[in-house]
Amino acid sequence: MHPALLLLPLAGCSAGRLTEVTEGDLRHLSGVLTSSSRGIVRAKIPVVEGDGALLVTARIDGPYAVHVRSLTDPDHHEVFRSTDWNDSPYNKTNGGFLSTVASLNWPIAASDEGLAAGDWEVELGVVDESNDYVAQDVAIDVLLKQDGSFDDGVLRVAVVFADGSEDDAEVRDAIDGAKDRWAEIYAGIGIDVLFEPDSAFDGGGLVAPALATEDAYETIAARTGLPHVNLVVSDDIVDFDDAYGIAGDIPGPLVPSTRSAVQISLAEAAGTDGRFSDQDIRILGETMAHESGHFLGLFHPVEGDWQGWDVLDDTPECDSTRSCLDVLGANLMFPVTVCTGGTCMEQDAITDEQRGVTQRYTGVE
Ligand SMILES: [Zn+2]
Repeated sequence: MHPALLLLPLAGCSAGRLTEVTEGDLRHLSGVLTSSSRGIVRAKIPVVEGDGALLVTARIDGPYAVHVRSLTDPDHHEVFRSTDWNDSPYNKTNGGFLSTVASLNWPIAASDEGLAAGDWEVELGVVDESNDYVAQDVAIDVLLKQDGSFDDGVLRVAVVFADGSEDDAEVRDAIDGAKDRWAEIYAGIGIDVLFEPDSAFDGGGLVAPALATEDAYETIAARTGLPHVNLVVSDDIVDFDDAYGIAGDIPGPLVPSTRSAVQISLAEAAGTDGRFSDQDIRILGETMAHESGHFLGLFHPVEGDWQGWDVLDDTPECDSTRSCLDVLGANLMFPVTVCTGGTCMEQDAITDEQRGVTQRYTGVE
């Protein structure tokens, strides 16, 4: 055997280098790397003193899919491994699940190891339509924020009207009222929501950002720029008739992608009478705060089937409608609106650990 052949399998094991630019207060590393024939690609993340959190986003064109397999600290200690979470009833991040767009924020919660200076490494897995690992190009972006306090921060939001909804004065008034409610809720967890001037997207019929197929969100995110959460106001959400809103991912990506938005349904918000009551506007604001909460990394404390939970210790665990309503019904991230006889309860409670997750999101600076 020719000795040189022995080196070939090793070639796919070295960590690829990304190029760095500065975007406002964020460091932005990016590049296109090619996975090995076993579907593995690794990128080096040089964390410097003062970096508080990072957000990795990997993108690939279908029918291929990518996920974050692991994240390793400078001492080669694995702080995240996708297989720990893939079959778990506990939800921590969607970063380990296969998609055309996969994002992992680190640290996620206060209990996670923080970012020490040194070379971190993210490992991605790439598969084809048969779920076989393959060699393929992957676009990788890593954003790092120079903010390690996690006590307070600023979230930049761009509200974008689709379906021509900006022409309806009642809709614009309802959105303004809902923004106030959203800002009030986030002020309670030390997040100052800064709204850019509203804008309109010339188009409509947008499908949910969680499906990672809608190119319009990539266009919108490219226009609003880093680091914005794009809140897209639609007449309704295609194929999700009873959804008030849908977030692009948990956590959501800040770089332009088919998942880079939170979508809100006006049809659901206005209800059957098509008008916005004060209660409708309050619930719309709580919906914006809830869906953006997903984007910042929060899961439901309990899923609607009462069979799945977040990983946080201070959101009580429950497993029935009655017990869950009792201990979590007022939480911002409760999976359903709770109404009796036309009156719906306020859902704005956020626990300390939930607050800790939102403050660690790289887009909260
Ligand atoms: Zn939700």
